This record gives sequence, C-alpha cells and structure tokens, in this order.
Amino acid sequence: MSSRYVADTNPKKINLGVGAYRDNNGKPWVLPVVKKASRKVEESDRDHEYLSITGLATFTDAAQKLVFGKDSLPIKEKRVISVQTLSGTGANHLAALFMSRFYQFTKDKEIYISNPTWANHNAIISNVGLNPVSYPYYNPQTIGLDFEGFVKSIESMPEKSVILLHSCAHNPTGVDPTPEQWETLAGLFLKKGHYAFFDSAYQGFATGDLDRDSSSVRLFASKRIPMLVCQSFAKNAGLYNERVGALHVIAASEDEAQRIKSQLSVLQRSEISNPPAYGAHVVSLILTDPELFSEWKRDIKTMSSRIIEMRDQLYNKLQELKTPAPAGRSDWGHIKSQIGMFSFTGLNKAQCDSLVNDYSIYLTGELSLHRLFELKRSDTPSFVTANGRISMAGLNTNNLQRFAESVDEVVR
Ligand code: PLP
Repeated sequence: MSSRYVADTNPKKINLGVGAYRDNNGKPWVLPVVKKASRKVEESDRDHEYLSITGLATFTDAAQKLVFGKDSLPIKEKRVISVQTLSGTGANHLAALFMSRFYQFTKDKEIYISNPTWANHNAIISNVGLNPVSYPYYNPQTIGLDFEGFVKSIESMPEKSVILLHSCAHNPTGVDPTPEQWETLAGLFLKKGHYAFFDSAYQGFATGDLDRDSSSVRLFASKRIPMLVCQSFAKNAGLYNERVGALHVIAASEDEAQRIKSQLSVLQRSEISNPPAYGAHVVSLILTDPELFSEWKRDIKTMSSRIIEMRDQLYNKLQELKTPAPAGRSDWGHIKSQIGMFSFTGLNKAQCDSLVNDYSIYLTGELSLHRLFELKRSDTPSFVTANGRISMAGLNTNNLQRFAESVDEVVR
C-alpha cells in the first residue's frame, strides 16, 4: 500500500491501488473454503518433513488438471511436467531460468512481452540474462486491444520466438483477446513455430468460470503449440502470502518430459531446495475433494461477481452524471468490457494527479524496478500514477459514488 495513502488523514480517502481482492467493506477476504481446508490441514497429523524437490504431487497433479482440463491430450500422453513453485512469481522465475538454460533462441535470448505488462516480468526475465522485448498490445486511443499491431508483430518476429501471454485478465490493462482472436493467434504461433510462455495468475477471477478462463491455454495445448504455463493460486484462492503456484511445461514426448523434469529439478534444487508445504496442502484438498471444490467455485463467483457488479455500477453512475468520456472514446463502456481485477480508466496524468492530490483517491502505481535501479540515492522513489489504472477490487458500495463524482469533476 502506498505510504502516502496510509499517512493521509482524510476520512474519505479511497485506496484503488491494492493488487489484492477486497470485500465490500474494503477488507481482505479469507475464502470460507480456505478456512475449512486450512482447519482440515491443521487437524491432520501432518509432519514437517521436506517435500520432494518438485513439490507435493497431489497438488501438482490436481493443479495441472485445473489449468489444462482433466481430459487434456498432453496429460493423457504424459507430456506435462509440473513443479510446485513459490506462487506465480516463482513459476515465472523458474520458467525464465529454464528457458535461459535450455531453449535454442533464434535471436539474442529475446522474450517478447506485451506493452504494457505486469512490471515484474521485465525484472524476472532480465535477472536470468534474457532480454525482454515489448510487442504492441494496448491501444490507448481505443482503450482496447491493438490486435492488428499484436498480429503484425508476431508475424515479423523470428521463427521459434518465445512470447509471454497472459492467459486471461491481462494485468495491467484488463483487456483480453476474444476467443476468435485467440484462434488467430494460435494459428500464427503454429505457422511460425513460436513458443507460448503463458502466465496464468487469475484463473477464475476473470469470468468467474475456471474452465472459461483457461480456454486460451487449452486451445494452444490442443494444437500442440510448444508451451509452458506459470500458475498462481494467490488471487483465485486468496492465498497471497502462502506462495502456492506451479510451473507446467509441455514436452514433445513422454521421453522428453522425463528429461525436462530432471532439468527443472536440478534448477529448483539450487534455488529453493524444495517448496513450502502448507498452502499446497490446502489447495490440494480444495482441488481433490468434490465438496470443497464446489464451494471454491462458489467463492470465486462471489469475488468475480462483486468486481463485475462494481464495473456495472461505476459505468451507470458515470452515465448518470453525463461524465465526458476519455479522449478517443464515445462513452465509458471500456469500464464494463475490461476483465479481471484491474481497469485502465483512460484518465490522463493530470487527472490522475488531481485524484490523488485533491481527492485523496489513490490509483495503482507500479514502481518499475528498472526505474528504481536508475534512481540516484538522493531521489525518493515515487509511484507512477500516470497510467490511469485502478484496482476494481478497491471499489465498494460505500465509496463508488464518491469515486464517480470525483472522476466527473477532474475530467470537466
Ligand atoms: N503474473 C501476473 C500477471 C500477476 O499480476 C501476478 C501478481 O500480481 C503474478 C504473476 C504473481 O503473483 P504471485 O507471485 O503472488 O502469485
């Protein structure tokens, strides 16, 4: 949370900068199913021995089925290798490290990432000696997807390029390709032999439906596109600091899968020896017990529906106030059509600054690590609020009206 928000004494201050789900009272929400599963884990006579290097097998097996679907072809053909990681960040790191050691890059160890993307992607990729290169993704004019630019870029990349894709609920834009656009992308990946590096941090959080939110991954897997998936249970299970995640790599054959598994084990051993057990036991129970699994799906719906409801209410309120739409837009429809926890409002830097300084409304700020490295010792790192991004989870029925009215005032 921004230190300025904490220090602000305005009782009406609003925090739209959190990267975690909040309930309608603005409080963190422990999923009821997680409470139940945690109790079961605590009551079991579990010991505290090390897990194996690749983690808790009941967890990784179930996590694999969750992302690819239980009837998935590569799972049936025993071509999926799954390793438990330190949440999604750990999965991204292990994946990037694995690629840096074993992938035959066509050009300068480049990994292509969307412009913009989750700020940590840049740092994680650079840390292992790979080169992050941006591809066009977001069009600020339409506050939507720059599909044409995206496609052109994929076509012009060298063959067998590694391209990072957000499987759903793109962070930070909330703008996803449509199912038809995913089909086009899959066709291009096949044609050019590209490698898909999927980041799946929000399965279930986008539409409220776990299967639907994994359809991009499943489409690519069904077409035998070479790929891996970095999976996080931070958001969809609300297990942020338990660090529960997995890396799934699809191999070309069962034999290759065994080799990849031993390569990943060697890397994991030198990095963390073995992953933490507690959260993995909790998620493993939720994924394998039919009753708990159904309850989890209901909890996910609770979170995703509240966010969708906030989108609708914000849109309606701005319509009611006749708030002028951001430049290039005829209305605020993008608030409703964007997906997941975040929303690019289209507010410009001056408007964002005014919300913070004059209204005590704090927007999401991404402190770029690259920027931090460039700062001199005397500089105070400050969050960049210029991109107009808000966390929809920070809105609730108590603060929505004030937020809409404040937006109305700053854009006029
Ligand atoms: N990937 C994306 C796109 C994210 O937005 C996040 C978290 O914000 C992560 C990965 C990793 O999160 P965690 O390490 O908490 O699972």
